[in-house]
Amino acid sequence: MRERRNTPIGIADARGSLREACSPLGADDRFIEYFILPGFTDVHVHLREPGFLYKETIKTGTLAAAAGGFAHVLTMPNLDPVPDSPDHLKVQTDIIERDACIDVRPLGSLTCGEKGKEVSDIEALAPHVAAFSDDGVGVMDDGLMREAMERVKAAGSIVVAHCEDTRYPRESREAEYRQLIRDLELAEQTGCPYHMCHVSTRESIDLIRSAKKAGMDVTCETAPHYLTIADDEIEDEGRFKMNPPIKTKKDREVLLEAVCDGTIDMIATDHAPHSAEEKAKGFAGSAYGIVGLETAFPVLYTRLVREGIIPMQKLVDLLTEGPGRRFGIEEADDELTFSVWDLDEEYTVRPEEFRTMGQSTPFEGWEVRGRCMMTVYKGKVVYKR
Ligand SMILES: [Zn+2]
Repeated sequence: MRERRNTPIGIADARGSLREACSPLGADDRFIEYFILPGFTDVHVHLREPGFLYKETIKTGTLAAAAGGFAHVLTMPNLDPVPDSPDHLKVQTDIIERDACIDVRPLGSLTCGEKGKEVSDIEALAPHVAAFSDDGVGVMDDGLMREAMERVKAAGSIVVAHCEDTRYPRESREAEYRQLIRDLELAEQTGCPYHMCHVSTRESIDLIRSAKKAGMDVTCETAPHYLTIADDEIEDEGRFKMNPPIKTKKDREVLLEAVCDGTIDMIATDHAPHSAEEKAKGFAGSAYGIVGLETAFPVLYTRLVREGIIPMQKLVDLLTEGPGRRFGIEEADDELTFSVWDLDEEYTVRPEEFRTMGQSTPFEGWEVRGRCMMTVYKGKVVYKR
């Protein structure tokens, strides 16, 4: 927390332009305590553009991010075209330049078309992307993954891995951690910086913890749903369907311990919007992916901070310094980039109020605390309630 104020319009004079923007908030004389938090970073979002505009666009996705207090997002490359070359990447960066209201940093794909057959043009892409990933699919070919790691390391970047060994059922724990074992061996041999996406099993946590102890350059993220929901709470609805699937209570406990002891470096949402039709086919038939940008902080604040599992500062670190350190987001310290929160306001999560085009969330109907009142990016109000 950068600072704490006792009046809704008590933002420093240096932020004078905000005074006016904020003043309607103080129209009633309710004594409100607002918290100013640094702009959050989400290293794992799917903004769906170019290619899948019926699910989300860079405009709607970044508005949703701003409404959730995020100022920096890293976008996954399962797009059309897949950013596997500078030309393909440019299609995306042109739209970002035109439509994004916050900082958007694309990841390049590890393999051409995310097809797992040929390594992308790593060297040409590296100066323009935040990292490299084939998110959504695991890279099965060991030799190809080794080559990708060697080239990513030489280019000074990071491999961001969606761990999924397709020889195991997708819902199994082995699908995740078996590929992590392979990846960690390759990362050790090549010295490539390695970041694991959306950790969901306790076995993965043990492996990451050991790798860190051994001094490897390894980090990981988990998502709010893995920290707050267990598999016995899953209903037969598309809004509980994501990849990797939510695991057991025991896994959730181990993930929470790993958040507390620093094994988990950051929390990312894996915001993955789909159309209503794609998510209306029950648990079995719906597409993989849920939205997360607008619920991340309220859910984590309500379930983790208010319940005494982690202190507020820790949650803020997981959403700012943790990802900032790993992915070099120095602007996370920008004085003119922050969000304003009413932490006392209690409300029900209603997807129909979201800015994202996706409305599928396991948090629908949850009572949460923490309302984002405003987000400012580089001195500009990008979201105001
Ligand atoms: Zn993803």
